[in-house]
Amino acid sequence: MITPVLPTYARVNLEFERGEGCWLIATDGRRFLDFTAGIAVNVLGHANPYLVQALTEQAGKLWHTSNLFRISGGERLAERLIEATFADTVFFTNSGAEALECAIKMARRYQFVTGNAERNRIITFEGAFHGRTLATIAAGGNAKYMEGFGPDMPGFDQVPFGDLDAVKAAIGPTTAGILIEPVQGEGGVRVPPSSFLTTLRALCDEHGLLLILDEVQSGVGRTGRLFAHEWTGATPDIMAVAKGIGGGFPMGACLATENAAKGMTLGTHGSTYGGNPLAMAVGNAVLDKVLQPDFLEHVRQMSLRFTQMLAEVKDRHPAVISEIRGQGLLMGLKALVPAADLVVALREEGMLVPGAGDNVVRLLPPLVVTAEEIGIACQKIEAACQKIENELAHAPVKGAAE
Ligand SMILES: *Cc1c(COP(=O)(O)O)cnc(C)c1O
Repeated sequence: MITPVLPTYARVNLEFERGEGCWLIATDGRRFLDFTAGIAVNVLGHANPYLVQALTEQAGKLWHTSNLFRISGGERLAERLIEATFADTVFFTNSGAEALECAIKMARRYQFVTGNAERNRIITFEGAFHGRTLATIAAGGNAKYMEGFGPDMPGFDQVPFGDLDAVKAAIGPTTAGILIEPVQGEGGVRVPPSSFLTTLRALCDEHGLLLILDEVQSGVGRTGRLFAHEWTGATPDIMAVAKGIGGGFPMGACLATENAAKGMTLGTHGSTYGGNPLAMAVGNAVLDKVLQPDFLEHVRQMSLRFTQMLAEVKDRHPAVISEIRGQGLLMGLKALVPAADLVVALREEGMLVPGAGDNVVRLLPPLVVTAEEIGIACQKIEAACQKIENELAHAPVKGAAE
């Protein structure tokens, strides 16, 4: 019999009653160090008093009015995002996929209003993840996510990640833009060579294309800069943001330059909930913290410490971990055993981490993680590796009986 909740997730049989910073407390009382953070969402940790106050204060006043009326919290958040980034304008959404939908529509519409309606295809990259709507599964190009949902949404040309020659070869008279995650999250925490984005920027300028960045996972301080592309010097025309921007409240945003947004005129796009007062109150509160002068420096310091300590763990367990990758606190362990085994072993040690493609275990702590918690995480990773190694040593050798 089908479960009351549509069974599209393989859920762990574990439920939490509350959270405190980087910790989750299960209904049976067990405490878990949470390096999943709602999949890179809870940037300020769980039950952050400042966010709780912002949300509850707003909840007592007004939840929702629709976009038929002015929402001052949204005007303020948009102005602050513009001030902090390349962007001139912002559309608020409820999720990452919706932010990408807006970005894709905007890029096509830009070409349409500038007399290039035939330019409606977007170049994307293998291993990408852009969400689960019909357009974003086509953009991501993961066959597993597309199977049976045909006809596939047209308009996407996929090339290997980091392959400039393939990008050049894919650019044609119907190309509207290039869409890329500055760091692939779901795809396995893959960081392209540092010059890759700047070269894509140059190609876009040369061919009249729009550069669209998906910073849904890499944005809002996750890599140690407000947005990951800031490490490269290249700026996009359009950027999708979500996850961290709401700190756990469902929200997203599509940021753009005035030029890129020029097709998005009155009536061309909309959302009933997008940018509602509750979301805007929380979004502003998240920015209050993330924009504090020492916040990103803290992320960078914790990242450096974590990377150094993980390198030592890897050296002690070369049969389990082959590589430490990532940027800031968007980190990954490339495993030599099934990554899912490492996820389970870590959970048994009281630490929660998500998997990723390419046999990688992601490490996504809240950005407020302390040095002490980084130390505890490394002890747990060490213990999990040791346990897996012991099991490997005692496992019957395949083919030994022959
Ligand atoms: C999570 C994610 C999305 C989709 O966000 P949803 O809120 O689940 O729709 C899109 N792009 C990237 C890079 C993501 O990590």
